Amino acid sequence: MGKYDQVKKEVLACTQWLSEHGYFGALRGTGGNVSMRIAGEQAVAVTLSTLPYRDLSFTDICIVDFELQPIEGDLPPSVETGMHIAVYRNRLDVNAVVHTHQVKASVLSLIDTPLPALYDEVALHIGNEVAIVPYALSGTPELIANVTAKLANNCHGYILQNHGALNLGETLEKAWLNVELLEKTAETYLTALSCGREIIPLPTDIVDLLVVLRKDAQDKAIARNQALLET
Ligand SMILES: [Zn+2]
Repeated sequence: MGKYDQVKKEVLACTQWLSEHGYFGALRGTGGNVSMRIAGEQAVAVTLSTLPYRDLSFTDICIVDFELQPIEGDLPPSVETGMHIAVYRNRLDVNAVVHTHQVKASVLSLIDTPLPALYDEVALHIGNEVAIVPYALSGTPELIANVTAKLANNCHGYILQNHGALNLGETLEKAWLNVELLEKTAETYLTALSCGREIIPLPTDIVDLLVVLRKDAQDKAIARNQALLET
């Protein structure tokens, strides 16, 4: 078994599940992409964008370093790989990035409306807000710069204007969960907005408590990654 096989299998399983469940927007397209940090290395495992996800084998998943130089894989990595790497460079608490074209979160991008933490599970897993990242064309340095400018809020979810969403996690399982949490919360928020009634926020003291719990989990992930990079 190859050094990177396990992480490639995990990336592929997540990608195919999200594609089959409509989170990439088009079941037959190749939109959206998934990556994982390679523990202890300046490298990532990332999907490619040239083949339908249902046709992929785990051996097709690319391994590239932070300079986008190939380590393993015969096909080119996703054009969004630079955006994933920007997250890993700036956020040592993040070990997985899932970029989707999920529908309800995308609606919020069209009306330029960030998503507040309306449920305790969102405040705990994603943070106190899902911010809107200003539009730039996919794969461009402008989009990478726009994403990077938002990362200092330490949240694990962002909405890309006129595009989709970016879900982060300390593990792939957590980033994957955040995809579903974001979509459920966006759907209920949009439905509530359409009622034209006041929207009840999560109590501030609960948000503050959950932010502390999140920070603890993030600090542990940062310490683990720092230790791995030093060995
Ligand atoms: Zn995209």
